Amino acid sequence: MSVATGEFCASCGRTDRPLVDGVCAECTLKKRPLVTVPESAMIVICPTCGARQRGRHWEREGAPMNLGSEDLAPFLTVDPEAGVRRVRWTETLAGETVRRFEGVADVRFRGLDTPVPLRLLVRTEHRVCPTCSRRTGNFFTAILQLRGPDERLRSHAADLREYLAQEWDRLVPELRGEWRKALTRREELPEGWNLYVTDTQAARGIARHLKSRTGATLKESATLWGRRNGQDVYRVTFRLRFPVPPSVGRASTSKNPAPLER
Ligand SMILES: [Zn+2]
Ligand SMILES: [Zn+2]
Repeated sequence: MSVATGEFCASCGRTDRPLVDGVCAECTLKKRPLVTVPESAMIVICPTCGARQRGRHWEREGAPMNLGSEDLAPFLTVDPEAGVRRVRWTETLAGETVRRFEGVADVRFRGLDTPVPLRLLVRTEHRVCPTCSRRTGNFFTAILQLRGPDERLRSHAADLREYLAQEWDRLVPELRGEWRKALTRREELPEGWNLYVTDTQAARGIARHLKSRTGATLKESATLWGRRNGQDVYRVTFRLRFPVPPSVGRASTSKNPAPLER
């Protein structure tokens, strides 16, 4: 790349402009799309709180239900040499689930300001966010099963459950905050605990963490549970079989089982 003046633009022949790779900025921006958007985009909105889904995360709880430039900005791809000063969008078609936007981006490129027209078709989908689901029902996508090493300990089930609960309480502070937020409720069963989780990735993260910290074995299985808002919903079960110290499930009914050896 070279910058020079007093030479000809290879494209328009002018000599009074700075050149980059032999071409002036005006000619460069005729050929180079400084800002692009995909033809269509999908935005997932929680109908209860207005939060938007971004990848696996939800953000902007309380945002307006109508789409605005903050919703559309993530779809812009901007040339690394260009700077977008602002984008004015106009909604030109508003259907129930499809909206068309036409916009003009004010872009600065090598000292020149230029308007770039944009057209974007947006489909919206309403999906209840995990936080609202948790408030409104028993929605979950994954179950963490905390269990003993095998089925033999059933006659000492209470000791086993207490031991598993202690292990859980000991390790919970190490879990990421976003994982903990996905936990909804726990259920006590003769053979251990079931923990219900609204986010399968969070459940997987928790399961792997528990496995690595305790030496538990981990088995993952998925079942198609049904459809929700037009999408297949799988429920994934993560079964963790914890090793337990000898004091749990033997003749002794110790209330303070020895910590695990590592
Ligand atoms: Zn030129
Ligand atoms: Zn919500």
